[in-house]
Amino acid sequence: MRKEYDENNIFAKIIRKEIPTSIICSGKDTICFKDINPKAQTHILIIPTGKYTDIMDFSLNASESEQKDFWKTIDKLTKELGLDKSGFRLVANTGKGGGQEVQHFHIHLLAGFNK
Ligand code: AMP
Repeated sequence: MRKEYDENNIFAKIIRKEIPTSIICSGKDTICFKDINPKAQTHILIIPTGKYTDIMDFSLNASESEQKDFWKTIDKLTKELGLDKSGFRLVANTGKGGGQEVQHFHIHLLAGFNK
């Protein structure tokens, strides 16, 4: 059974523009913005605008078009930042035990560990 989606999570508020953030990259169904509390030189969050709670929910329930848009946006972003050459890490904390604080699916893009 799918986990219930909390409409009041902070990323839902960012999507509804109730909380300001500077979008650094976007796709048709995807947005990217800087993490407010960076854990690496580059720390960007990539989220689908659809209501998915975690990576499993997104992978199993998002449409092919949403999934393609999501990964294409990450591809575009990493290329724009030159990370396709220098390397990067993608992290999807999943569930409370996995350290997921915000219950809207997001990927952490982290880079710059070699500097
Ligand atoms: P997680 O623990 O995987 O759920 O990660 C949630 C991330 O969201 C944390 O790294 C937070 O620093 C980040 N975060 C929380 N609120 C905001 C916000 N308003 N803008 C940008 N990042 C945020």
